Amino acid sequence: MECQNYNITRGVERENLNLNPLQRGGILPREAREALYEFGDGYSVCDYCAGRLDEIAKPSINSFLDDLATFLHVDHVRTVHGAREGKFAVMYAMCEPGDPIVIDGNAHYTTHLAAERAGLEIIEVPNSGEKEFKIDLNKYQETLELAIDKYGEIKLALLTHVDGNYGNLSNAKEFGEICSDLNVPSILNCAYSMGRLPIDGNDWNIDFVVGSGHKSMAASGPIGVLGMKDEWAETVLKRSPRHVKKEVEMLGCTSRGAPIATLMASLPHVIERVNNWENEVELTQEFVSKLEKIDGIEQLGTKPSEHDLVRFDTPILHEISKNHPRKGFFFYEDLKKRKIVGIKRGQTEWFKCSTYGMSKEQRDYVANSILEIVEKFAN
Ligand SMILES: *Cc1c(COP(=O)(O)O)cnc(C)c1O
Repeated sequence: MECQNYNITRGVERENLNLNPLQRGGILPREAREALYEFGDGYSVCDYCAGRLDEIAKPSINSFLDDLATFLHVDHVRTVHGAREGKFAVMYAMCEPGDPIVIDGNAHYTTHLAAERAGLEIIEVPNSGEKEFKIDLNKYQETLELAIDKYGEIKLALLTHVDGNYGNLSNAKEFGEICSDLNVPSILNCAYSMGRLPIDGNDWNIDFVVGSGHKSMAASGPIGVLGMKDEWAETVLKRSPRHVKKEVEMLGCTSRGAPIATLMASLPHVIERVNNWENEVELTQEFVSKLEKIDGIEQLGTKPSEHDLVRFDTPILHEISKNHPRKGFFFYEDLKKRKIVGIKRGQTEWFKCSTYGMSKEQRDYVANSILEIVEKFAN
């Protein structure tokens, strides 16, 4: 048979500034690009495997997982294929089909799908609505207490640490306290936080943390991180009676090639950048205030922003699109001319973006470009 040309070219990061929040924390540092090349072949980490992926000593997956556990302040760590697989593994191991779990109203769709796949009922704590869309932890506690009264037991409560719509940061320590006081195992979805800001599972008294390597840990992925307290290892990391070395929820082995090699190669870089988080937030806040000087652009979510992902309501862009010959595409196209990408094509009512990891000059360039575009077309 003949194959078509699949058009496997990109150049996005090399040639443009990418504002897509999904992609900013997954950019590989040089050492990870080298690891990607070195470990590109299938099963490349398995040369010296004695049956347990997490115990391989060359490359040192074993000590890498120890370091990762130290970094996250948790007792045990495994890699999985993504944050979603981490959530699913925990839900599946901790609950029975038909069990209710409590989650926040800003949960990612993959939280819903993981629960559906595990056959669980979802009880949702709504967010505060316009314009903060915040999760009130008092409300969370109330919902959890009501659920316990109603069902007798709740086997899992999930909080989205930083959500992907508004970039709202929830108080993990308060959540951990609420759950442990009520004796409900807690899971913190750190897809947008682990690898960007410090995570402290023990201090926050959280039972499970999940992260995303390709979202926030400078890994090619797909790869996720699952950390847990020692008391759950027996449940979530139980071994197969037939294949006694293999962990059932991990289906024996999880990431076994370039995804884990890049995650490993990036860890020193990630540890360092997490120390710089406060500076990142400051730069984001500066970026937000520059954009908010434009009439008709307003940041949604909690203010001031506590995360690099920010969402803007943009009625001015929508107004312009009504009369512009390129309609809703003008914004995307004008940004592209300035070598800025990552905003959804054709959408003008709102956008979300991130300038994570950019230099101050680059951030100013983005803000000034948006200002220029608005000034050019607004009347
Ligand atoms: C991106 C994202 C996910 C999905 O992460 P994967 O590693 O791709 O599964 C889950 N939760 C949140 C909050 C996210 O932003």
